[in-house]
Amino acid sequence: MLKKNGYRITQTRKEIIRLLIQSQKELSPQNIHTFLTENEYQIDRVSVYRIIETLYENHLIHKTSSGKIIWCSKIHSPSPLTSAHTFYYLKCSICSRVNETSDLSLNSNIQSLAIKHQFILQESTVEIKGICSLCQTQKKLETRG
Ligand SMILES: [Zn+2]
Ligand SMILES: [Zn+2]
Repeated sequence: MLKKNGYRITQTRKEIIRLLIQSQKELSPQNIHTFLTENEYQIDRVSVYRIIETLYENHLIHKTSSGKIIWCSKIHSPSPLTSAHTFYYLKCSICSRVNETSDLSLNSNIQSLAIKHQFILQESTVEIKGICSLCQTQKKLETRG
């Protein structure tokens, strides 16, 4: 019985990971729960939260400023100064696609900023809002008629 439960959790975790990778958008735990139940996975919300926390602790996902989650598409090498989580992303205001990016100079700028304020850096998230290249092309096509 226990084994069976464990197996189900593993399957569900795989399904959550697949969903996150495919969506390229922020998802809330509620979005994930709804998706799973619609696909005939029997799982309660608490278990969904638990799986999300495990993924977060293992640095596989990031949390965005709106408290939603997104799959981590980068390999974050721990910096010499701190093991802080860094997450910089560009979010399209039209299609909501999130594109994770990285920048070494931004890293060091944030670190020196923290040092200046005698602040121990634990996490830094930078959200850049705008219009992605795909939506720009789409817009151009529309105006041309
Ligand atoms: Zn990442
Ligand atoms: Zn877009």
